[in-house]
Amino acid sequence: MNTYTQQVNQARILTKNSSRIVAFSGAGVSTESGLSDFRSKGGLWERYRIVTFQEFLASHDNRVEYWSMRRELIPGLLAAKPNPAHHALAKLEAEGKLQCIITQNIDGLHQSAGNKKVIELHGTNMTASCLTCKQQWSIIDIQERLESGDLDPHCDECNGLIKPDTVSFGQSMPVEAMELAYQAAASCDLLFMIGSSLEVQPANQFPLVAHQGGASLIFINRTVTPYDHLATVSFTESASKVMSILTE
Ligand SMILES: [Zn+2]
Repeated sequence: MNTYTQQVNQARILTKNSSRIVAFSGAGVSTESGLSDFRSKGGLWERYRIVTFQEFLASHDNRVEYWSMRRELIPGLLAAKPNPAHHALAKLEAEGKLQCIITQNIDGLHQSAGNKKVIELHGTNMTASCLTCKQQWSIIDIQERLESGDLDPHCDECNGLIKPDTVSFGQSMPVEAMELAYQAAASCDLLFMIGSSLEVQPANQFPLVAHQGGASLIFINRTVTPYDHLATVSFTESASKVMSILTE
């Protein structure tokens, strides 16, 4: 029996015997649905500068720059479909074993797969809101406005600025979501860390918190992470491949 088979068997047993599972998903889960990680080379993110939240607020020209990039980004997000890793997590929630997903992804694909308990640390790109009166729109409606040439959309009600419900650079992380995420990680019996290289905060705090709480950890990422030594089992593999096998 090779090491990979042993790892699979061990991870399957852990999954089977755990009843309070929490999953953390990073960009690696989305890339398997064809969405590019903004850190990766090539494509959209290299042609546009990152517009911070403060810059977005500061001028019309900055907002036009911001929305020009979004107008190119949104159709891909809307067309993306959940992959087998998303479906595996939906199955675990349907079985009552998965407590919640903590995600850094903004594409709504966990919800598309059927998960209801999703903590979105970076918000969502599926909706946009007025920064003043909080009225909310589907991103589909906003995309129509962008395509009609309105590259600095304002609220119909109060003329406030409209912005996607994502957490932008320079914007603070949502306090309530962060608290819920830490509580979930601290009280789970098994944490899946999927598709994150764990190089930035707060992602890299969750394995520590879960480990301190006595949970087992299963890591699935294409590359090794600085926290692999905490993992009960770690796979340097595709998330879709491993999650499908573990939840068969
Ligand atoms: Zn408004």
